[in-house]
Amino acid sequence: MNTPSNRIQSLDASPTLAMAARAAELKAQGIDVISLSLGEPDFHTPDHIKEAAKKAIDDNFTTYGPVPGFPTLRKAISEKLKNENHLDYAPEQIIVSTGGKQAICNAILALFNPGDEIIIPTPCWVSYTEMVKLAEAKAVIVKTSFETDFKMTAEQLEQAITPKTRGLILCSPSNPSGAVYSREELATLAQVLAKHPDVLILSDEIYEHINYVGKHSSIAEFAEVKQQVVLLNGVSKAYAMTGWRIGWMAAETWVVKACQKLQSQYTSCTCTVAMKAAEAAYLGEQTCVETMRQAFEKRRDLVVRMAREIPGFEVNVPDGAFYLFPKVDALFGKKTAHGDVIKDCNDFAGYLLDEAHVAAVSGDAFLMPECIRFSYAASEETLTEAFRRIKEAVEKLH
Ligand code: PMP
Ligand code: GLU
Repeated sequence: MNTPSNRIQSLDASPTLAMAARAAELKAQGIDVISLSLGEPDFHTPDHIKEAAKKAIDDNFTTYGPVPGFPTLRKAISEKLKNENHLDYAPEQIIVSTGGKQAICNAILALFNPGDEIIIPTPCWVSYTEMVKLAEAKAVIVKTSFETDFKMTAEQLEQAITPKTRGLILCSPSNPSGAVYSREELATLAQVLAKHPDVLILSDEIYEHINYVGKHSSIAEFAEVKQQVVLLNGVSKAYAMTGWRIGWMAAETWVVKACQKLQSQYTSCTCTVAMKAAEAAYLGEQTCVETMRQAFEKRRDLVVRMAREIPGFEVNVPDGAFYLFPKVDALFGKKTAHGDVIKDCNDFAGYLLDEAHVAAVSGDAFLMPECIRFSYAASEETLTEAFRRIKEAVEKLH
């Protein structure tokens, strides 16, 4: 009695959100904590998007909307896919949800059965494995390495596929590693997947616009696998709209219909005012996206330079997203000035919080316990101070 369901008891709470809450608590106690834990743009939502939301309220977009989203928004997304990605998805092949998070969870719950195997290359975003757990499916982990820039090879993928495989979750640009799969790399994965038409490819492209190596490539560009692809994206990162909670999926109509059924029982539709704001984001001028991308790129260069000066940090250059994911296992086994041993990445993240007052997320959360994640979606001044403190704290270890 008085216990949550087994389903909830076996679920881990989101460690990124937990660390952000811990940092906020310490700040509320008056401690000068710099939080590089939560991955969200530090910019405000551009004004023309905010204006569209205010107008939506005045125009009384205040009742339930259609379950899959306003037709005008689905059309705007369909046009974005055509113009920016050269991908053909009719508006009926698009469903709008409460953040990219719900779009991904919808896909996993609507498409997979208990026992189905879902391949997840690691390091991976914290929520994939837990969502797969909710569906009672089985996460099959493919561990990548620092040396391969945390990218899964076609050989690794091929080896992981069994007769029970029903899905793959691919994230490019990647949270947490910042790795970006090139078109050529995606082509080699597509070649393998085309031989397995019953394996669905959940392609999380939420960091599409935060890319420092050129044009974004989607695995949906490969005709031989397009019907297997469930493309997931949203406005949170590109337009600094994390709080508006708008994400979407583009896929074959049967997939969208399945998610629509689930969503009709679960959230009805997402927030109508936020949908009108997202529509303005896609239809309005796009310079804000590039301005923010350029700022992230400058910060990327800055944090890579500073992190490389820290003893024990191995740093590769992230090609996208706004995370630095250094390998720090050379520090495990060292002692703090108080004589405590840093056994693993959790101890190291705890040490940085206590000693340097910098909040980061342990690599454990992303199934890569050799590493630690810093979000560099913060001002250059904040980042400079944070890395100064981190360096000082690391230099105290012996
Ligand atoms: N995928 C990845 C890889 C993410 O980092 C995030 C950020 N939370 C999401 C999806 C979901 O984003 P949101 O729900 O804010 O749209
Ligand atoms: N994607 C962000 C992160 O990884 C937001 C938090 C979350 O939804 O996990 O920090």
